Amino acid sequence: TEKELARSERLAELGMLSAGVAHEINNPLAIIRGNAELLQMSLPEGSDLQEEVTEILDQSGRINRIVGGLLTLARQDRRQVSRFEAAPLLDEILDRIGHQLPLAGVDVERDYRRTPCLLEGDREQLRQVFTNLILNALEAMEGEGTLSVGADVDPGSTSSITVADSGPGIAPEQRERLFTPFFTTKQNGTGLGLAVSWAIVRNHGGTIDVQSVPGAGARFAVILPSPSS
Ligand code: ADP
Ligand code: MG
Repeated sequence: TEKELARSERLAELGMLSAGVAHEINNPLAIIRGNAELLQMSLPEGSDLQEEVTEILDQSGRINRIVGGLLTLARQDRRQVSRFEAAPLLDEILDRIGHQLPLAGVDVERDYRRTPCLLEGDREQLRQVFTNLILNALEAMEGEGTLSVGADVDPGSTSSITVADSGPGIAPEQRERLFTPFFTTKQNGTGLGLAVSWAIVRNHGGTIDVQSVPGAGARFAVILPSPSS
């Protein structure tokens, strides 16, 4: 649609503009982070300054994520396309997240194991898309609820990966803005996860469908064209 075209042009522009800036920010940022880590290690136990140093590390981590997101927007043209099964990739993502986050209160349903679902595209870029959606779902649920990850195949037409949560859902007035770069409702969000995901999926010839019942959760579907035979 026209709206999607405009959005993708804006994103490409933002990506190009930011790539240069992002590279310039990366080096000094690495030095700040390295020094803050050194400081943290050399502070005596129970020092009053622990909190401040931790804050420097947290916030520079945030800059790092923003810069990473902007670089991804800029890198859209470079794709390494292959054909692969969705299930092993989704397993890898969920296993890795499980190692990093306590998922104790979350029921994780791996529905994608039921049917084979072949995807075609840049595996690492699509990994980033699914990771973003899963992290958003977990963040929305704040540690309690059901996360369902599924796969659907419409033979000869599309392969879809769905990520559904039982969180608070999305307010109607926010629906329009979800994919806008820097739109976030989180204290420490970058607002780039969905913008980057959308750009990646669009470059794969696909779309992201959002469904939400406020109060009863959200469901994101990444719809990709079937691998060409
Ligand atoms: P970030 O996660 O850094 O805030 P994103 O681009 O990933 O940035 O998401 C943008 C916003 O979309 C979030 O801040 C949140 O308000 C909303 N959102 C995304 N996923 C969900 C979800 N599963 N449930 C509710 N809101 C969501
Ligand atoms: Mg996010």
